[in-house]
Amino acid sequence: MIPPGSGHPTDRAAPSTPVAHSASDVDRLAGSSAGVAESDARSSVCRACPRLVAWREEVALTKRAAYAHEQYWGRPITGWGDDAPSLLVSGLAPAAHGGNRTGRIFTGDRSGDWLFAALHRAGLASQAASVSAHDGLSLRDTRIVLPVRCAPPANKPTPAERDACAGWLAAELRLLLPSVRCAVVLGGFGWTALGRALVRAGVEVGRLPGFGHGVEAVLPGGLTLLGCYHVSQQNTFTGRLTEPMLDAVFARAKDLAGLS
Ligand code: SF4
Repeated sequence: MIPPGSGHPTDRAAPSTPVAHSASDVDRLAGSSAGVAESDARSSVCRACPRLVAWREEVALTKRAAYAHEQYWGRPITGWGDDAPSLLVSGLAPAAHGGNRTGRIFTGDRSGDWLFAALHRAGLASQAASVSAHDGLSLRDTRIVLPVRCAPPANKPTPAERDACAGWLAAELRLLLPSVRCAVVLGGFGWTALGRALVRAGVEVGRLPGFGHGVEAVLPGGLTLLGCYHVSQQNTFTGRLTEPMLDAVFARAKDLAGLS
């Protein structure tokens, strides 16, 4: 595991950053964060979900053979990109040997290959490849957020874990929403989770339509949620999600976010 304050490119924490040990700690520390950087720092050292803490650290110790020479991040993965974005991309949770290894969301796994290549084609990412937190990649007017920050076993967080982590996302949304005009939501779990987090952030959501690829929900305050099939291998290998489909989503998202 990479300790806080050791100079990793995505690490905004320090050894003195306060640590959440329960869902109520999450609400207290997330709600009192003065800005995005402090919120990121605090969430990156969170230990509120014992099962997920144990899993992320066990994976970081045992590693996959191909990455045996690497030091795994082994901590929660924060949102990443622009701190005052026009466009949000909301995923689900980090991958055990992707974000949990590299310390940056969608970095070092096949889902990220698809997502960042699409963001690059759309002019929203400086490069198509996202292999390491040291690779120089940056996003333009865009930030990727996630409803669950620790890699869950079998990619399945429990409802209690999802609800605990929503405190971090709600606080992050409160800080980001003044600039955000569109959120691309990857997958049905993310659609529901982002809706709940928006409600916790005090946003009037109304009755959201069910998730679907290309479905748009315009919230009363003007923010548009745009559904997109998740970039998981389950969808990209089977052709359920193709590059043209993804490109069409980001073209529409850029229009909605005023980035075209
Ligand atoms: S899933 Fe979220 S709330 Fe739970 S330990 Fe990780 S960062 Fe904390």
